[in-house]
Amino acid sequence: MTASPLAPAWLEVPADPNALPAPVWPRSADRDGRGALVIGGVSAAVLTERYGTPLYVVDEGEARTRAREVLAAFRSAFEAIGTRAKVYYAGKAFLTGTVARWMADEGLAIDACSLGELEVALRAGVDPARIGLHGNNKSLAEIDRAVEAGLGAVVIDSWVEIERIAAAAERLGRVQQVRLRVNSGVHAHTHDFLATAHEDQKFGVRLDQAAEYVTRIRSFPALSFLGFHCHIGSQIFDSGGLAESAARLLEAHAAALQGGPVPELNLGGGFGIAYTSADDPTPIADLARTIADAVALECSRLDVPVPVVAFEPGRSIIGTAGVTLYTVGTVKDVLVQVAGEGAEARPTEHVRRYVSVDGGMSDNARPALYGAAYSARIASRESAADPALVRVAGKHCESGDIVVDAEYLPGDIAPGDLLAVPATGAYCWSLSSNYNHLGRPPVVAVSAGESTMIVRGETIDDLLARDLAFTTHAGPSSPTEPSPTGPPLADPPLTDPPEETDR
Ligand code: PLP
Repeated sequence: MTASPLAPAWLEVPADPNALPAPVWPRSADRDGRGALVIGGVSAAVLTERYGTPLYVVDEGEARTRAREVLAAFRSAFEAIGTRAKVYYAGKAFLTGTVARWMADEGLAIDACSLGELEVALRAGVDPARIGLHGNNKSLAEIDRAVEAGLGAVVIDSWVEIERIAAAAERLGRVQQVRLRVNSGVHAHTHDFLATAHEDQKFGVRLDQAAEYVTRIRSFPALSFLGFHCHIGSQIFDSGGLAESAARLLEAHAAALQGGPVPELNLGGGFGIAYTSADDPTPIADLARTIADAVALECSRLDVPVPVVAFEPGRSIIGTAGVTLYTVGTVKDVLVQVAGEGAEARPTEHVRRYVSVDGGMSDNARPALYGAAYSARIASRESAADPALVRVAGKHCESGDIVVDAEYLPGDIAPGDLLAVPATGAYCWSLSSNYNHLGRPPVVAVSAGESTMIVRGETIDDLLARDLAFTTHAGPSSPTEPSPTGPPLADPPLTDPPEETDR
């Protein structure tokens, strides 16, 4: 088959539309004797029979192996330049109690950016000293909880936060370790590193303000300055930007050393993964070595000791461990006109096959939010049919509700087939919503042929539980508890159901 003119240029017609190419799929992905997709030793057919669809599947072995690989890569690269690396798992990518425990088990610290994420990590039993909190607008409750729990680091993101964190630490009789987030002026996705750090974005402070901030931080005995923090973006394949950012931060780091200790430097996360066959991410060990070499070079140029260097990878650890399973509901061919080339040329018509599944932008917002590309495979069977260009759409009432914009799948794809979308471990469950009153799907972990539900799916009752039109009492107190200010309020009267009309 030749490529469809409707397909993006990067998408090649696969030799086998049943293949599960690494590194898009978890290493355990395979097909069983019946051709069904198997992940972590469990077949997609068994998973969907037990848990239904849509279903988030997370391969525990893949998540743990990736965590170990990333940790080992940074440790060995930074040991080679005579220092230590710390690796925080960026919880924003995908954080449940179970995932937090896997990461802590594998020796990673946890990076949280909200009270909710922080509570997950704390309640999962993660050592507070190995949790960091960042965010450009932390509430006082978040700051209090972080300080009271004894977090290892809180990342300051604005002038006013210095005083807020210091006040909380003073009140609680603690000394809180803090980092300062700065903009290095390096953009992850371009080679066009900004000459100045005057970035038009909400995170961090300008590099040229760093000294003033550090002086202010050091003026509070309840704060202890750990060092600078920076995160230049996500889905980075090229280490050049990270190395450049490290070099720029080290200038500020060296200047800050004049006034006191600066034990660490945090370079954030953002290491890319493969979502489609077109993505060719740089191995994490290579990225780690390049960054370590840049840090060593710059420290020697500035004549300062090499600090402990911290990283916050999320996607590169959990992304490939996730696969979402859907059921195909409808298949529909749409004729699309493509303009001919040249003044005389007539437009040609081509078929785009819309395959609609039972989830969509509520379980994976990334295509709608960022135009993110994904790939897909039929999960319930293999097929000898020729590949056809399809667009996988969700079931939401929104034309931008696309799960996979373009993919070649066996042309006999039909209602009832299971469809698997790989690389959905990061920023899918964590960005999920209840749009159109769809319940969030369950999350099931697979490992060594066993499956375990780690987050249950939402039911209609869950969805309606906070809608006070359907509850019998409106307040937080139970009707049997005496109210501190008097007898319990009577339940609000339930209105009669509206009469049916023929409108
Ligand atoms: N650290 C910070 C401050 C971030 O904002 C992010 C993501 O945006 C991360 C770490 C994790 O990035 P990634 O999941 O791409 O590694």
